[in-house]
Amino acid sequence: MIRIDVRRKAFGATEVLSDIHLTVNPGETLAILGPSGIGKSTLLRLIVGTDRDFDGSLERPDKMAMVFQEPVLLPWRSALQNITLVHPGMDRSAALAMLQRVGIADKAPLFPGQLSLGQQRRLALARAFAGRPELLVMDEPFVSLDPAMAEEMLSLTEDLIAETRPATILVTHSESEARLLADRIVRLAGRPATIDGNHGPSERLRGAV
Ligand code: ADP
Ligand code: MG
Repeated sequence: MIRIDVRRKAFGATEVLSDIHLTVNPGETLAILGPSGIGKSTLLRLIVGTDRDFDGSLERPDKMAMVFQEPVLLPWRSALQNITLVHPGMDRSAALAMLQRVGIADKAPLFPGQLSLGQQRRLALARAFAGRPELLVMDEPFVSLDPAMAEEMLSLTEDLIAETRPATILVTHSESEARLLADRIVRLAGRPATIDGNHGPSERLRGAV
């Protein structure tokens, strides 16, 4: 179980988030929808722990993985090492199987700069799922993709979530993306942003747990 309690998050005098209380069950995918600039990435930074400067508390597992808008890869390491180096103890064959799973096994020895952007995104996905995370956090992972690639990445992500079943928090401004991937949707709104309709039932999509 993941529990997020953000009473207040401010940058200087500017309050960005207020009274955000969320829980995510194991294996559940929660989408957090909201327009650009509302505070989605700020909230994710609190959840993953890269920003600890807020008023509130968190309970989350240690085994986390993140997928960002742009694939963040080690430029001078091979595709295979991009997986093995972030998952200590993972052997080459397990990493190779993951590359195979996302369709880029033949690119294992290449540097990220030698891959197309689509292949880099596949590698970032492979790396995120390779460690079998208990919590997967995604920050607008399909934004700025052309429709064909967005579709492809979306369906690959859907499959990997179904196979791996991490608790997933997907932040997005895309209603259709949220509806496709999420079991449950909440909305960030207002200034400072809070969960819209926090007092009523949130939207349940798949009748999940
Ligand atoms: P979103 O991801 O929903 O587009 P962000 O979380 O990036 O929104 O930003 C929410 C608000 O917080 C914006 O007004 C942004 O300018 C502000 N903000 C984000 N990071 C910082 C920072 N490090 N310092 C000051 N303001 C910030
Ligand atoms: Mg953002």
